[in-house]
Amino acid sequence: MNAQTKPLPTVFDVQRIREDFPLLSRTVHDKPLIYFDNANTSQKPLSVIEAVSNHYREHNANVSRAVHQLGEEATAAYEGARDKLARFINATSRNELVLTSGTTQSTNLVAYSYALPRLQPGDAILTTVMEHHANIVPWQLVAARAGATVKAAPIDEKGELIVEKYIEMLTPEVKLACVTHVSNVLGTVNPVREIARECRKRGIPLLVDGSQAVPHRPVDVQALGCDFYALTGHKMLSPTGTGALWARKEHLEAMPPFFGGGEMIREVRFDGTTFAEPPHKFEAGTPNIAGFVGLGAAIDYYASVGFEAIHAWEQQLLTYATERLREIPGLRLIGEAQEKEPVISFLIEGAQATDLATLLDLQGVAVRSGHHCAHPLMQFFGVPATLRASLAFYNTREEVDAFVTALLKVRKLLM
Ligand code: PLP
Repeated sequence: MNAQTKPLPTVFDVQRIREDFPLLSRTVHDKPLIYFDNANTSQKPLSVIEAVSNHYREHNANVSRAVHQLGEEATAAYEGARDKLARFINATSRNELVLTSGTTQSTNLVAYSYALPRLQPGDAILTTVMEHHANIVPWQLVAARAGATVKAAPIDEKGELIVEKYIEMLTPEVKLACVTHVSNVLGTVNPVREIARECRKRGIPLLVDGSQAVPHRPVDVQALGCDFYALTGHKMLSPTGTGALWARKEHLEAMPPFFGGGEMIREVRFDGTTFAEPPHKFEAGTPNIAGFVGLGAAIDYYASVGFEAIHAWEQQLLTYATERLREIPGLRLIGEAQEKEPVISFLIEGAQATDLATLLDLQGVAVRSGHHCAHPLMQFFGVPATLRASLAFYNTREEVDAFVTALLKVRKLLM
């Protein structure tokens, strides 16, 4: 049965869902917007927008610093988001969740607070060729300071991690292993459970970059068996500047603070400052309170739709979009992994990715062109850039059709 004849899930009313996302009904260059840049950042449902707005209208105060009513409300809302996030990824405890500005801050926190103090000259950090720079560059920075190296496990032409190689590279000098759960360029889903099992056998902690996984599938950090899980809120319906690092309690307890300042201390003295318990010892300064209020609302929104339905719909869209793109003459798909989330990278012979994206924008289609913060992956495929269409559960088959029509049109203009 091909994608076109597959029955649509009756429970998934995409038109109803689209009504929750005000931005989706706008036009761009007088054309209906087709937003296919979801891996870059997702759109936000009204419930998230209103939660943020309502926080500023009704509850705005700083957290943990005031005993007055508003301070307590703001603190409850902020800490409530931590509770929701803990349940969302099945953490054993809310105290295992450090609220950050996003994945980049989360990986940097692990780099400076976990890896750097442990790295000796000759040690290594293992990552992969398919990573976002946020899961490469922090390791390079701390490795350089420690006289350690960063090794990258290879991938194959389909854009799949060569797992045997990754496991082979888990040698005794590796002090931290890293892998993305889902590639932001290829959509490839990596076998994180298997990798975690192999890491555990060797006593090597594993960090998983979950940025592109959490918007598409239920994540259970306990079942995955990793040590660190980084995520970013703005790709999962939440405001920008929100994210988290989940880490096993023992790691957080052993890690020194990274940022110093207010909120993260127990007592400040010139003869020896003491720090708050995790996670607060990693949360110096005033956080993005309203942002996390929005993140809490985003998690509620996901719960109201349900990941089973989201996943089924997105997989149909992915299959359909991939089939339709294959009809385009000269189109080369980059990455055809067996298990994917709805991210499709491609090139069209004779046309620059940026030119295509610019012309598509004039047709109302938002896609991303460029290296997607994944230079080593571009180097592997021997291309400077790709065009990337990344879908979300609020996208439709009609949008895929309109996107393909627009692509055929702009391709002609460039030939
Ligand atoms: N990791 C992956 C796989 C990503 O896709 C991104 C964002 O594109 C990041 C990390 C960085 O996320 P942020 O910029 O929100 O910190």
